[in-house]
Amino acid sequence: MPSPPLFSRILIANRGEIALRIIRACREMGIESVAVFSEADRGAPYLRMADRAICIGAGPAAESYLNIPRIISAAEISNADAIHPGYGFLAENAHFAEVCRDCRIEFIGPSPEAMAKLGDKVSCKQTARAAKVPVFPGSDGAIEDEEVAVQVAQKIGYPVIVKAAAGGGGRGMRVAHNEIALRAGLKSATQEAAAAFGNGAVYIEKFLERARHVEVQVLGDKQGNAVHLYERDCSVQRRHQKLIEEAPGPGIDPKKREEVCKSAARLIRAANYHGAATVEFLMDEKQNFYLLEVNTRVQVEHPVTELITGIDIVRTMIEAAAGRPLPFRQRDIVTRGHAIECRINAEDPARNFAPSPGAITRFEPPGGPGVRVDTHAVTGYRVPTNYDSMICKLLVHADDRERAIARMSRALREFVIEPIKTTIPLHRELMNDAGFSRGGVDIHYLERLLKK
Ligand code: ADP
Repeated sequence: MPSPPLFSRILIANRGEIALRIIRACREMGIESVAVFSEADRGAPYLRMADRAICIGAGPAAESYLNIPRIISAAEISNADAIHPGYGFLAENAHFAEVCRDCRIEFIGPSPEAMAKLGDKVSCKQTARAAKVPVFPGSDGAIEDEEVAVQVAQKIGYPVIVKAAAGGGGRGMRVAHNEIALRAGLKSATQEAAAAFGNGAVYIEKFLERARHVEVQVLGDKQGNAVHLYERDCSVQRRHQKLIEEAPGPGIDPKKREEVCKSAARLIRAANYHGAATVEFLMDEKQNFYLLEVNTRVQVEHPVTELITGIDIVRTMIEAAAGRPLPFRQRDIVTRGHAIECRINAEDPARNFAPSPGAITRFEPPGGPGVRVDTHAVTGYRVPTNYDSMICKLLVHADDRERAIARMSRALREFVIEPIKTTIPLHRELMNDAGFSRGGVDIHYLERLLKK
């Protein structure tokens, strides 16, 4: 059977480095790309790499990158037959995926149904239970009665965490170490969730004090195949924001690795999922793992996995959206060596990570063997104030973790970004830090280190 044709033109509903990443994939695949930009991004150099660029509105995201009618109009004007949402903005908005479907534009991501099923934390947990994917002990679904929540907490033991079903960005969460705190937490989390997400549903689960963040990259196609591309460890975080990601996860027992990766593939198969997803888990000291959430999109840190597997994740997403079956089976996927990513943000680590936007007068990225730089920044680029502060992802690949750290350390020394402040000095320190070098730090490690 001939394979379905790929798209002729893809509109990219995003900005910055991920827009450029998708433009590059399109070019390599012989697909035209249409970039969109806000007034704040007008003239940004990466826009010239696309075949066409269309202004969709003012700087605030609500008037541009989050504005569905404007994005759909741009797709219609440019005759795009598909939209890639990247990450953030509309990437996990099931309504947007539905509008695309209604307009006969292929959304490069899962169906709105699969997205809703895995995106809502309560329904995700239910799907996971049915697929025998380990979840945190806790309430079966959303809490309707405070007394039931208190009983559940007594059964699973404190501390517990109250979480919003529609949660995101760490909002709507409360940790409770006793019954009084739980009752208060239920009320405040419900209010916060209702205000932030328009949905006040909350649930509770066991709170893990010292956990690692281990996530699994998965890919599915419209024929029902699903594979995993192994795990990433993203435990180096500040305020729930990842700063360093690596693969494979240091010190993870091969049997546990197999279990966690297979669980992730099972979950997306159960949800009839196509495209790329990341299944996030927390792992305790005994390497028991529990489902945290599923991200139904390409992830910032996807290149870490590309480096160790040699698979182009963005290309595969586009092929799967076009209806092509995955070009590999699970047994074809092998990993080689170790990869690390450092997120370079326009923030000042010496001043409590205060944003540091502005013009870059010197931008000299590192190079050499095993170095990958994913960025939209160049000398002369002005970092706008409107968006996320990440300006670059610096990645290395080497035969093993020790060499990857040495390579990252070397690359960070070469990197010059002036005059704005960035997270480069912090990354340089971390590459020399004994705890990080040992591997397997927990998600609060960096915050403890910063307090010293
Ligand atoms: P969000 O979608 O808001 O980011 P997550 O469910 O991904 O919410 O949780 C965000 C962070 O909160 C996690 O990375 C972890 O640090 C912490 N967290 C969430 N659930 C638990 C838990 N059961 N035990 C310990 N920490 C948790």
